Amino acid sequence: MKKNLLILLTLGLFLVGCAHTPQIAQQSLAVQPAGFSWFHRDGTINWDAQVLPIDTIVVHHSALDPNATWVRISNLQKETLYRPRYESSDPEPYLKGQEPHSGHFRPVGGEWREVFYAYHWLVRPNGKCERLLQDCEVGWQAGNWDVNCRSIAICFAGDFTDGQPTDEALDACATLIAGYMKNFPAIKIENVIGHREVNPKTICPGNGFLGPDGWKQTLINKVHHNVMQSLK
Ligand SMILES: [Zn+2]
Repeated sequence: MKKNLLILLTLGLFLVGCAHTPQIAQQSLAVQPAGFSWFHRDGTINWDAQVLPIDTIVVHHSALDPNATWVRISNLQKETLYRPRYESSDPEPYLKGQEPHSGHFRPVGGEWREVFYAYHWLVRPNGKCERLLQDCEVGWQAGNWDVNCRSIAICFAGDFTDGQPTDEALDACATLIAGYMKNFPAIKIENVIGHREVNPKTICPGNGFLGPDGWKQTLINKVHHNVMQSLK
């Protein structure tokens, strides 16, 4: 009971945090606003405290079975993204020795479950788009904290190390991106980038993404088509 109360309190503070995003967004990462804190009043960390106005879309592939559930992705990214941070001695904030915590909760089976997935959207091969993070939640996805704080992460479900997503998935992703460009005018077409364009250490979303014959160009063409259609 007490635990549920704590989670609800955390969620409540998190929602308040979302509502106040524009104030936080005025600040650069280097200069923290007066009274800035990484922590909620109950002592839990607020990893969304540095969220910025959205101006970038980062495209990923899951590098997993295309049917992998969000639970699998959450469990995996808890270990690959959050665990190393909590085992490091990095300051701001210092968390070494604590159990990884995202501060992102979802109702599952009548209970609140903490989730660790890093993407805002997962696009299945049949074109179905699953909402994961909310737009005001920071995804640990780009390998660059500044980009994490200002971007939406869209992940194609599947392993596209070689090959490319289905036409249905590319169409669905293009529709999503065009919708974001309409709602967030700071997102320009050149700000639609692959994970590998932020972090050269990864090939995500795949070896065939870039270049004149790459599927990034196919995706961008589809986005243009969507934008033009919406203007008619
Ligand atoms: Zn990626």
